[in-house]
Amino acid sequence: MYSEVINLKTPEQLDQMAASGQVHAGAMQVAVETARPGATTKEVDTAVEKFIRENGGIPTFKGFRGFPGSICISNNDMVVHGIPGPEVLEAGDTLCIDIGVTLGGWVSDGAVTIPVGGESNAVADSLMETTKQSLFDAVDQCRVGNHLGDVGHAVEKRVEGAGFSVIRELIGHGVGRQMHEEPQVPNYGVPGSGPELQAGMVIAIEPMVNAGKPEIFVGDDNWSVYSADGSLTAHFEFTVAITEDGPRILTPWHDLIDVWR
Ligand code: MG
Repeated sequence: MYSEVINLKTPEQLDQMAASGQVHAGAMQVAVETARPGATTKEVDTAVEKFIRENGGIPTFKGFRGFPGSICISNNDMVVHGIPGPEVLEAGDTLCIDIGVTLGGWVSDGAVTIPVGGESNAVADSLMETTKQSLFDAVDQCRVGNHLGDVGHAVEKRVEGAGFSVIRELIGHGVGRQMHEEPQVPNYGVPGSGPELQAGMVIAIEPMVNAGKPEIFVGDDNWSVYSADGSLTAHFEFTVAITEDGPRILTPWHDLIDVWR
């Protein structure tokens, strides 16, 4: 029943999405290089938008439901959807950078969390590394014949095994011509449950993890999402295609960014 609403992409369309994803990865590299101590979050936003447009793309998030920025930039206890502005980055911040690129009508979506200035502490390091690893665990489940529940379960298992919490109110999604398509992609699940994965499905997998309890709330700007207990958070995201040859990461920031290579 799900196959009627999940848009499957042809191999040619996947190549077009990969071209969008290459611009995305380049934009992420620009973001990470700009997000140094002393920079404002708006400066990161401006540099990324410039790069995307110079490469023929459009920043997908800009104007989405009225969102004012080109990127979402969220630090420390802020999980996602932070609005770029005058806030100055400090060494030791854990900073989530989330970017959407539309190129040739195809959307790519991805995120990383970095230690600003390369400075961190043991909890932040473990949180970021665990969240990133949970994303790679999930990607490894993106095989024809597996189910979405296998993908979510892989995230949940890694995160909870490390003593952290999967946020349940925010989830990943199908992606293609639209930023948000079917299916919904939770970061938890029962193995073997949910839609069966088919060649041509493209999903944005995005574990969002709190160091403390899983609850969240939305701030006064109606965008920024925070951990309810004020604990540190991390978020990593790939746009991934399911193919007959296995998972294909379409937003390969891990090839370009030293900190997470
Ligand atoms: Mg997303």
